[in-house]
Amino acid sequence: MQAARPDKSTVIFKVVLGLLLYFITSALVIRFTTDGRSHASIWPGNGIILALLLNRGLTLRKRVLCLTFLTDILAKSVVWPWTPWFCATAFLNVAEIALVAAFARFYTSHGKPFSTARTVLNFALIAGLAVPFVISIPGAFVTSIAHHTSFSLSFWEWLFSTSFGLLIFTPMFTSLFGGQFMHDLTENGSYPLWKIGIVLLCQAILAILVFSQSAYPLLFIPAEALIISPMLIGEAGTTLSFMIITITGLAFTIDGKGPTSLIHTDHFKREVLLQVYLFILLLTERPVSSILMSKRALIKRLTAREQMLALAMINATDSILSFDRDWICRWAGGASLSLLGVANENLPTQRLCNILETNNREVVTLMETFFSGDQYAAILEIAAPHTQDTTIELNFRKVFDAGTVAGAIVTIHDVTQRKLKEDDIARQSESDPMTGLLNRAGFQRRINALINAEHADFSLAYIDADHFKDINDHYGHEAGDTVLKTIAARISHQTRASDIVSRFGGDEFVLAITKNQKDAAATLDRIVHAIHDEPIALDTGETVQISISCGVAPYSVGVSVESLLRQADSALYEAKKAGRNRTCEVSSVIVSPQAPAT
Ligand code: GH3
Ligand code: MG
Repeated sequence: MQAARPDKSTVIFKVVLGLLLYFITSALVIRFTTDGRSHASIWPGNGIILALLLNRGLTLRKRVLCLTFLTDILAKSVVWPWTPWFCATAFLNVAEIALVAAFARFYTSHGKPFSTARTVLNFALIAGLAVPFVISIPGAFVTSIAHHTSFSLSFWEWLFSTSFGLLIFTPMFTSLFGGQFMHDLTENGSYPLWKIGIVLLCQAILAILVFSQSAYPLLFIPAEALIISPMLIGEAGTTLSFMIITITGLAFTIDGKGPTSLIHTDHFKREVLLQVYLFILLLTERPVSSILMSKRALIKRLTAREQMLALAMINATDSILSFDRDWICRWAGGASLSLLGVANENLPTQRLCNILETNNREVVTLMETFFSGDQYAAILEIAAPHTQDTTIELNFRKVFDAGTVAGAIVTIHDVTQRKLKEDDIARQSESDPMTGLLNRAGFQRRINALINAEHADFSLAYIDADHFKDINDHYGHEAGDTVLKTIAARISHQTRASDIVSRFGGDEFVLAITKNQKDAAATLDRIVHAIHDEPIALDTGETVQISISCGVAPYSVGVSVESLLRQADSALYEAKKAGRNRTCEVSSVIVSPQAPAT
């Protein structure tokens, strides 16, 4: 209970303030804009009480309306002698406030009234037209009967005065009661107070100059000034400027001055004429204000999005480039400097192949075919232009404009780590774990690449350890492994980096020696000697001596790897048969298509 007290006292304070303002403004406008028979030219009270009701957290709505009824009668009674008709007009004022409040959901968005262009327009229709129209009929009826005046003139008076009151004062007092008047007035700092002050002062001077004279029909001047107001001082500021024009205009017109006095008619009609002028002014200014407001909101949203995008670009780990159909870069963002070695601002106007510093066949082909082909996207992987240690992935996506291909967006991504892992996995899957040489799959890939290269010139050798089973049987399997590893090391030692050295399994090794046949035989002889001449030391301290047999077949264009292997295997068979520890060349043997492995 203790904690709720300040809230309640704030509400009561606002209610008392609202009613007091209702009383003062009503008494003043009755005193200065009516002669006791006509309706006031402007009625701010309804707007003040409506703002009070719209104020969130106000729970005393019915009581506020009852008190408004009494305050209305009191204000009139203070200025003019009491008549029972006061009750009728007070009731109509309260009914108008209650009716407009009942439609609050149409001009409220997320609990906040007049916060969007749509809610402002809805409010203009409900509080500026529909409800005043409905209330003005009984209002004019009451006034015309009570004071024996014209029904139609009374109707227009009622309509304009209550409509102005609601349109002008409700938004202003809503922000006042909500405690955000300054915030709304300056539109969160978009319009500095000094600027609002100067513009309002200028408009007040203009209004006084126009309405204090009766020689020239200068009504267009305040109208022009009001139309440009939303651009200079925003929406709330424009409402204030309209208030200044209205009060100045009414004050001088009631005093018999101003451009309306040029019309030769009675005082009463001139006042209605001014109201029509103000009403048209307001109805012209509101949509302009609303459109500007929604545009400003859009610009704000776009600016926020642009800032977010810029932030995302600054922190991006990818580079994003936009190209036209000639592969000329039009826009660059993201991590271009680290991925391409060029800052974003230096990329536009450069061609893709220049940016990538490459004549890579895949890139060139893609540049030639991408836009004319059916494919929507493509991916390429190449070495980064500025550092060959980095592998980059280029992700191409077509960009369409009105149904035709306008260019491409290329997203560049660092895939070095992934590439290293892939290479590692490929290496593992292609190598023999015990000796570290290539396995059969690794050999296959390398030999295919060798055959596909231009001017392939190599010999293929099949090597098998002699009586290897005996070593396993005599010294154990582990010793056998040591011997196999030593054989592998000695073979590798005698070959060159361009040669392909592999272990096919067991005690079988296959080599592609990238030399002509004579040189291959010489290399194999060196290998035979290297293995046989030096005994192999085992972990046990013992030593074993082993020899190998080799079969070798030269490559010639059109011969398959399988055929070469069979030839080399046949030659190996011959080497075994001839006493082992030697090399046999295929030219000296009859090659059988199904040569048995020894
Ligand atoms: P040959 O001179 O006719 O080649 O006689 P060999 O005893 O060497 O006979 P063969 O080449 O057919 O025998 C290969 C042996 O290698 C059979 C198998 O026990 C052994 N072996 C296969 N893989 C391994 C291995 O990884 N480690 C060890 N220690 N031995 C293996
Ligand atoms: Mg063997």
